[in-house]
Amino acid sequence: MSEQCVFCGHKHLVSKETRYIYQKDGQMLIVEHVPCTECTFCGEQYFDTMVLQKIEIEYQSISQQQKQPQRMLQVAVEEFASI
Ligand SMILES: [Zn+2]
Repeated sequence: MSEQCVFCGHKHLVSKETRYIYQKDGQMLIVEHVPCTECTFCGEQYFDTMVLQKIEIEYQSISQQQKQPQRMLQVAVEEFASI
């Protein structure tokens, strides 16, 4: 991976873990502790293609009910116009 932020050009990127929210067809899968590289200047996060593929495959398995997620989460939802 290139050690320069594509977004702002800053050269200081750090490895960390983050929460990744995968969205498809109005469905959502939250994956915790996903490895990524983050720009310390603008906060842009970069993920390995392999990491993203793994999440995509996991989402498919769960949406086709071949696999149960570790846990389900209830999430509060608002329409911006109503707040
Ligand atoms: Zn940056």
